[in-house]
Amino acid sequence: MQHAAASQGGMRDQYGREIRDLRVSLTDRCNLRCVYCMPEETAFAPREEILTDDEILTLIRVAAELGVKKVRLTGGEPTVRANIVELVGRIAQVPGIQDLAMTTNGVRLARLAQPLADGGLRRINVSLDSLNREKYHAITRWGNLDDVLDGLNAARAAGLRPIKINAVVVRGFNEDDVVDLARLTLTHGYAVRFIEMMPFGSVAGFQTNAYVPSAETASRIEDALGPLTPLDVTGYDPARTYRLEGARGTLGFISSVSQPFCAQCGRLRLTAEGRLRLCLLRDDEADLRTPLRNGATYDEIRERFRAAAYRKPWGHGLARGVIPRRRIMSQIGG
Ligand code: SAM
Repeated sequence: MQHAAASQGGMRDQYGREIRDLRVSLTDRCNLRCVYCMPEETAFAPREEILTDDEILTLIRVAAELGVKKVRLTGGEPTVRANIVELVGRIAQVPGIQDLAMTTNGVRLARLAQPLADGGLRRINVSLDSLNREKYHAITRWGNLDDVLDGLNAARAAGLRPIKINAVVVRGFNEDDVVDLARLTLTHGYAVRFIEMMPFGSVAGFQTNAYVPSAETASRIEDALGPLTPLDVTGYDPARTYRLEGARGTLGFISSVSQPFCAQCGRLRLTAEGRLRLCLLRDDEADLRTPLRNGATYDEIRERFRAAAYRKPWGHGLARGVIPRRRIMSQIGG
């Protein structure tokens, strides 16, 4: 396998941004029903529309040849995909992929963290919006907090590093819980990140009303736990990162709505049905599954991938009221 693009400095979009990062949704199914993410009753894509393991591998190989170095597996919930451990092991072997991570709700991690780490997973982001059992259950509709806490312990024991905890702040559900989540960094080396809620399709009305800006979250934390000291972080990170005095871990704010970071975005997303989504918050996508199943050659797929990446839009249009309509977050993966 050649890495021509990598040696030429990687693939770039029409604005010159280097595309280095691919998020791959392994399924649109999830074992939770977070109120701000998806409706409780929801229709999933028929199985035959979901990419097979081999198709996923082919598209990741193509991406790596074009210069992608980092792959993050997501969902739906990635850990509910059949033979996830074997698939992770195969993805970890793709030449050129230097960093393999996963975003998960952590529910199945107690059992899976070690086999995933053995298979080549390097690090993990666990979504956790509250440390209060009742509130966690209310937000996730189906979740049991202890499963996630056991999952975090298993991830630590398996050597997955860093462990990032992502919390979406939702007014009326968990805006006060940010203090307890931030307090975790005093005793644990976690990177806890607070994410501004973004609006999508049928859930956009709720999401817009329950949106909490990062500035409000930060002052709530500072009022309770003292000043946040900004940290200089090397490399690209969508989170602005801070530390509480004496803390072992860090705090971050991902402020996609109030302080967009589109200028630095070098990320593409592959949906579980094989569409390359060019911007999280825009509906522009390129269908790679159809050519793949219609017998396109490997080179043709690579050219389609490269051409789609080139078309990546400059950024989202939330400030002008442009909201993605065709998919909700669980169908993209975050
Ligand atoms: N099931 C996995 C998980 O829970 O991490 C992966 C998929 S989930 C869609 C990825 C992340 O997106 C989660 O952290 C979730 O909280 C977040 N998320 C869902 N809807 C969101 C929204 N409207 N705005 C911001 N983040 C959102």
